[in-house]
Amino acid sequence: MLGWPVSHSRSPAMMRAAGLQRYQRLPVAPGVLHDTVRALGAAGFHGANVTIPHKEAALAIADTASDAAREIGAANTLTFGDDGSIAAENTDAPGLLAALGGTPPATALVLGAGGSARAVVWALTHAGTAVSVWNRTPQRARALGVPVVQRPVPAELLVNCTSVGLDRSSTDFKDLALDADGLSEYTTVVDLVYGAGGTSLIQQAAERGLHTVDGLEILVSQGALSFTLWTGLPAPLQTMRAAVQDKASQPRVPRSHPLQVPDRRSADPGS
Ligand code: NAP
Repeated sequence: MLGWPVSHSRSPAMMRAAGLQRYQRLPVAPGVLHDTVRALGAAGFHGANVTIPHKEAALAIADTASDAAREIGAANTLTFGDDGSIAAENTDAPGLLAALGGTPPATALVLGAGGSARAVVWALTHAGTAVSVWNRTPQRARALGVPVVQRPVPAELLVNCTSVGLDRSSTDFKDLALDADGLSEYTTVVDLVYGAGGTSLIQQAAERGLHTVDGLEILVSQGALSFTLWTGLPAPLQTMRAAVQDKASQPRVPRSHPLQVPDRRSADPGS
């Protein structure tokens, strides 16, 4: 996991629990991303996840990219080929749809216009959802290519792609121009932000009987797709969920081949 900073990431616990025993955090300052990524394949790594602030730069470094990564303009998953090539993928977008499950919603309101909002808007519009965006800075939202609203409007799905909610002492959503009772205008509420105990947005939505998907489930969902991309195996979703919910479950990093995946196809159904 390459990021700057990256110490908060729960992906190592999740991926090691899934069987990628040498998966680890690597703090990489922006100026050295290119050289670091180019060296990782030769060092025996099979792939890397990429987080803030490197997702756009990771796409630029890669030799090939999926349509999703190219159209979103960012990659969160790199795969290193034996020939030194680097392939870029974005599993944030399909990860959201997988976490939602079932038929995509007819309408959605996305809050935010940063990197994660771009992936979410791309995923939903490609799934046929009519998407609107609200952002504190409306000019930034216009670049997403979907209608920009001045205040939150009703929709089937609400997705928080802002960083509001990281501070769990706040029990209202005034920074999102929302109030708790207004949440009843949505059927499903997704919050990309996660932290111990869940965010206030998810708690208030759950109290109103809405279907909720929290940031940890989104994390697991995108991580599961990266896992399968690298290994060809179904991801052990329950194991990964348990690991992100319990940071204390992080095992020590053993010295071993970078890609040691026990064959659990018959042992773990992956859900
Ligand atoms: P980003 O590119 O930095 O964008 C941040 C967004 O938050 C912008 O739209 C910004 O609005 C808005 N914002 C920040 N502070 C705000 C405030 N006080 N009031 C209103 N809006 C505010 O970040 P990102 O990469 O999209 O990530 C957003 C959040 O999603 C982060 O907390 C990140 O940890 C989380 N995330 C979670 C997952 C997961 O797997 N669960 C994956 C990706 C991201 P302006 O444009 O007005 O500045």
